[in-house]
Amino acid sequence: MTQAMTSVRARKLAWTTVPGSTGLVRLAAGLFVMATIALAPVPVFAGDSEPTAVAGQGEALAQTPQVAASGPIAIAVHGGAGGVAREALSEERRVAVNAALRQALAVGHAVLADGGSSVDAVAATVVVLEESPYFNAGKGAVFNADGDNELDAAIMDGATRNAGAVAALRRVRNPVLLARAVMDESPHVFMIGSGAERFAREQGLELVNPRWFRTDDSWSRFQQARRQQAAIAQPLPDEAYYGTVGAVALDRNGHVAAATSTGGMTMKRYGRVGDVPVIGAGTWADADCAVSATGWGEFFIRTAAAHEICSRVRLAGQSLSEAADGVVMDEIPALGGSGGVIAIDSQGNLVMPYSSISMFRGSIDAGGTVRTAIWAEDES
Ligand code: ASP
Repeated sequence: MTQAMTSVRARKLAWTTVPGSTGLVRLAAGLFVMATIALAPVPVFAGDSEPTAVAGQGEALAQTPQVAASGPIAIAVHGGAGGVAREALSEERRVAVNAALRQALAVGHAVLADGGSSVDAVAATVVVLEESPYFNAGKGAVFNADGDNELDAAIMDGATRNAGAVAALRRVRNPVLLARAVMDESPHVFMIGSGAERFAREQGLELVNPRWFRTDDSWSRFQQARRQQAAIAQPLPDEAYYGTVGAVALDRNGHVAAATSTGGMTMKRYGRVGDVPVIGAGTWADADCAVSATGWGEFFIRTAAAHEICSRVRLAGQSLSEAADGVVMDEIPALGGSGGVIAIDSQGNLVMPYSSISMFRGSIDAGGTVRTAIWAEDES
C-alpha cells in the first residue's frame, strides 16, 4: 500500500465511528435508506409538467436551529434517455414512472432538508430507483448478449472529489451503495466483478440471486432484441430505451454530488462496461458542478462528457446550460451518439438537456417546485 493510499485509508477509517464494524455500519445505512424510502412523503402526482410546491419546507427549516448551514438546496433525477414515443408508453406505465421519480426526489430532498449532505441525498435517491422495476438499474436492469444482468454504478462527492465506482456486478442488490462503500471504506475508486462482490459481502451489503433483477418487461425486451439480432456494434434502433438512473444534488453547505446506476445497454457484450462507472464520463462532481449522464455510453466515454461539461463551466466561463448543451446537443451527436444529462451547480441552477426523443427526468428546485417530465412538450 502506498503512502497516499495509507493516508486516504486512515482518513476514511476515521469517519467510521466504531472501528472494525464497517459491515454493520453499512448494513445500518442500508436499512436507514430502506426506512427512509418507506416513510418518505410522496408528493401527489399532478401530471408530468405541473409544478407543485413542497409544503412547509422553508418554515420547517427556519425553525430547526441545529441546521447550521442555510444555503439553497436542490435535486434532480433521471430515469434514462431513449426513444420512447408518447404513443408507445401506456398511461399506466407513465403514471408509475412519474410516481417513482417523485418518490425518489422526495427521499433525496428530505435528506437535504434535514441538513444532510448532497452525497447522502444522491445515494438515497438512486436506491429508490434501483428498487423500482421501471428502470434499467437494480431490479429491471437490461440483459447482456448472454441473457445475464451486469450492473454498473458510480458516486462522486464534489466537495472532496472522493469517488467510488463499480462494474460488472451480478449479485449486488443496490450497486450505488457498493460504489459508496468503495468511496468511503476502501482506498480505491473503481472495483469490478467478483472482487467487488466480495467487498460488498465484507461490507454487509445485500447480495441477491441474479434472478432477482429480472422483470417480465426487461426479459421480453431482451427476447425482442435477440430476435432482431441487435448488437452493440450496430447503431441502436430509434426505439432503444436506455433507462439508466441518476441523481445530482446541492446541499445546504453549497456542496454538490452525483450518482448514477445502470444495467448498461441491452445485448451489450459480456464484460462490456459503459460510461456510468467511468468517473468523468457518466458521473462527475467537483466544487461547483455535478453531472449524471444517460445515453449511448461509448460516446459519453469518448467525450469525457460529464467532466467536459464541468470543465467548460470552470475553465471556459460557460454557463451550466451552455456547457451541457454544447456537449449533449453538439459534441456527442457530431460523433453519432445520443442521450442526455442532468447537471447542477453550486448556485442551485439545474439543467437537463437530451438529444434523444425522451428522457425520464424530474427536479425539486431551490424554490421547492417539483417537476417531472418525459418529453420536450411536457415543459411547455
Ligand atoms: N449510459 C448507459 C450505458 O451505456 C446506458 C443508459 O444510459 O441507459 O451503459
